[in-house]
Amino acid sequence: MRVGIGYDIHALKKGRRLILGGVVIPHPKGLSGHSDGDALMHAIVDAALGAAGLGDIGEHFSDSERRWKNVASVVFARETVAKVRKKGFRIAQIDSVLLVERPKLAVYKKAMRESVARAFGVKPDRVNIKAKTNEGFGEIGRGQALAATAVVVLEEV
Ligand code: MG
Repeated sequence: MRVGIGYDIHALKKGRRLILGGVVIPHPKGLSGHSDGDALMHAIVDAALGAAGLGDIGEHFSDSERRWKNVASVVFARETVAKVRKKGFRIAQIDSVLLVERPKLAVYKKAMRESVARAFGVKPDRVNIKAKTNEGFGEIGRGQALAATAVVVLEEV
């Protein structure tokens, strides 16, 4: 069994779509970034890569590479599953925390869970997504940014 940790933060900007865990969420602001800015997917990808000893997301999906521009982060998830598989592992469990002031994500948790499960090729009961506010503190508290953390457990195939 292997365990990895992941973290990501993106700015919330007007004129961007808000996509979390591959789910489009109606909100006046979205996450900026080279890809679709899906911080939840990025945190999980980093955790999975870390668990497999494969470095980090920037080494595999560099934001200086044109082929990753505006790419759906679901693609990063699928590629990561393949890379992890090559090392002899599969994803056993994903847990995550989203730190975001607005919008409230409770009603989207089920959809995000199912979407993340699909992207990483696991059953939804192997995925857990928690969302909380930052109690008004800092950039996240002011609604200027959104952060995500994740833990991934891998098991040998
Ligand atoms: Mg990111």
